[in-house]
Amino acid sequence: MFDDVAASPYTVATIEMCRTQHRCILAPLSTRLEKPTPIARAKARNLPSWSRLLLLPVEDGGLATGVATRFGERIGGAVFIFACGPWLPKLFPDLLGDRIFVTRPEVLYFGPPAGDSRFAPPAMPAWIDFGEELYGIPDIEARGFKISLDRHGAPFDPDTGDRVAGETIAAVRAYMARRFPALRDAPLVAAEVCQYENTCNGDFLIDRHPGLENVWLVGGGSGHGFKHGPVVGEYVARLVAEGGVIDERFRLATKEKVQQRAVY
Ligand SMILES: Cc1cc2nc3c(=O)[nH]c(=O)nc-3n(C[C@H](O)[C@H](O)[C@H](O)COP(=O)(O)OP(=O)(O)OC[C@H]3O[C@@H](n4cnc5c(N)ncnc54)[C@H](O)[C@@H]3O)c2cc1C
Repeated sequence: MFDDVAASPYTVATIEMCRTQHRCILAPLSTRLEKPTPIARAKARNLPSWSRLLLLPVEDGGLATGVATRFGERIGGAVFIFACGPWLPKLFPDLLGDRIFVTRPEVLYFGPPAGDSRFAPPAMPAWIDFGEELYGIPDIEARGFKISLDRHGAPFDPDTGDRVAGETIAAVRAYMARRFPALRDAPLVAAEVCQYENTCNGDFLIDRHPGLENVWLVGGGSGHGFKHGPVVGEYVARLVAEGGVIDERFRLATKEKVQQRAVY
């Protein structure tokens, strides 16, 4: 994304939109999901400082009039959409601090035996074992056979939490020995913390801020937010641009303070 900042339509559009049209679609550079290369980091240093964002809404009588960056700069706008994943409760602690539960599952990747195509597409689909609370994704692009204990895990702070994964290796290996015996001794080739940000039942939060009419809160992606990303984006864009009724299941009012998982 940052290899050629000037030529990147996304970055240029973002800057132009914020400066001239006062519409904000912002591409934060701090995501822990991305792994910036040294070149990308160097390029990022040359971007305007406000693109390294710590956005907080600036309020004025029931409306947000802008967002403030950590550098004290302010970006105006008409509508603000906060889709900050596991960081969302940190931005709105009073509202979401006890309604979005950020936890620390892990995903593990094992190397199938050389030449064995049973663990890659098309032989293997993505799968989930609801009874044992595990899911997996076949070996795509030689990344490894992905497998994860789909339990919420311990509470996790996305800024300070330890991201070296390994706590679930023994349990996952025991499961693989039973259900994927050919992978019993497969080497662990990678492991990641897969932060979940769950609402009480696991469904998305998509609603207006109750005190700031032009602020939208979009989150609760949990372990399924990536695959739903394009549809959630279209849904939110339509609501914001054209209006319409927000699905009851996504409303803030349905988000309780006690977890009872129903959506996986
Ligand atoms: C290792 C791993 C594996 C996963 N596997 C899958 C999978 O197989 N399938 C699936 O569907 N989902 C998966 N997920 C979950 C999925 O990635 C998330 O549900 C999804 O990314 C949520 O999207 P989001 O845009 O809401 O939040 P995020 O992708 O978390 O993005 C939030 C962004 O907000 C930024 N931000 C935070 N605070 C601020 C602030 N104050 N100001 C400005 N920006 C800010 C962050 O830097 C980040 O870029 C996985 C997640 C992880 C970590």
